[in-house]
Amino acid sequence: MPTPTGRNFLHTPGPTNIPDRVLRAMNQPAVDFSTPAFLKMMNSVFDDMKRVFRTQGDVIMYASNGHGAWEAALVNTLSPGDRVLIHDTGHFSANWAEMAEAFGVTVERIPGDWRRGIDADLVEAHLCSDTGHSIKALLSVHTDTATGITSDLPAIRRAIDNAKHPALFMVDTVAALATTEFRMDDWGIDVAVGGSQKGLMQPPGLAFNAVSAKALAASQTARLPSVYWDWNRRLEPAYYRRFCGTPPEHLLFALREGLDMIFEEGLDNAFARHRRIAQAVRRAVAVWGRGNTLSLNAIEASEMSNSVTTVLVANGYDIDRFRTTCRERFNVSIATGLGKTMGKAFRIGHMGHINEPMIIGALAGVEATLSICEIPHEAGGVDAAVRFLASA
Ligand SMILES: *Cc1c(COP(=O)(O)O)cnc(C)c1O
Repeated sequence: MPTPTGRNFLHTPGPTNIPDRVLRAMNQPAVDFSTPAFLKMMNSVFDDMKRVFRTQGDVIMYASNGHGAWEAALVNTLSPGDRVLIHDTGHFSANWAEMAEAFGVTVERIPGDWRRGIDADLVEAHLCSDTGHSIKALLSVHTDTATGITSDLPAIRRAIDNAKHPALFMVDTVAALATTEFRMDDWGIDVAVGGSQKGLMQPPGLAFNAVSAKALAASQTARLPSVYWDWNRRLEPAYYRRFCGTPPEHLLFALREGLDMIFEEGLDNAFARHRRIAQAVRRAVAVWGRGNTLSLNAIEASEMSNSVTTVLVANGYDIDRFRTTCRERFNVSIATGLGKTMGKAFRIGHMGHINEPMIIGALAGVEATLSICEIPHEAGGVDAAVRFLASA
């Protein structure tokens, strides 16, 4: 029986809560998209997305979800038969790699156990062994939303540089953008992939490629077929090229408002807020884990994500029932494990439009559901989170 009153606590790691201000910004008629007022607004959104990616490069926007922006990153830079390298650190890196294979790209995989981030030393060794420089790109997922693990991007950049390898550094930061520090230019990232419905507090439906000059140069010779995703068509001066047709006006009104909110808070403050809230979640999980059934999937403290926490559950518990009970009884939506952790983990999203009392409410719903479902845990996780937040 769904809880009929109050708000849903949306703690799926995408989509995330949409602020009322953003919802209201969409509540307006469609407009003639050739007017100076609309074009000015649209251009300001492109400019401000560069500030979010911290790049002087170009930002391309698609009316698509994150998968579309993945595809765009591949088809603009690669040709059939090209090789790419990926460290298999989670469900999303595995899926991006499969997408590349579907285009006839050869994927070299460094195997991973999904409990640690990308190992820069392994990447360096692999790139060093590619003496002929046949690897065209390194595909990296910044925060893998399945594992709750964030990789150290500057360390990966150093690995590429140490190997003196020309591969493009392509990063999926869909689940980290606006929750975790990201410096596209400083970190020498060539293609950054983003999506609207995670840290940016937007409805699903917009996705991004931020591209370096080196990536744009690679697009001149890439031979995977593309018209709709083609960066270069979208960078032509004609305004109707920006979206390869009608711009998703209302999503742009929404993003304009969301960007205003992000800059009012300040990106660095947003990162600090996400870090604090994520630490509170981990304090709760640490207490629950004393029942010897629940544990954090991430092993390295430095790799624990600001935006999502993956909690492993010992064998023998029905996680779907747990998740459904949490939603139906307490109106708290959490997510299940993905890929290798399907049926073995649940995930608490904590990104975007969220504050301390919201996470306390969600954790209380989770802790109560642990009791209802008789999943062994030590009580007091919520209290530990409260005390952490009081001192943070
Ligand atoms: C959500 C997500 C995607 C896919 O985005 P969709 O909008 O669901 O297509 C890709 N990568 C990561 C890391 C994600 O979290």
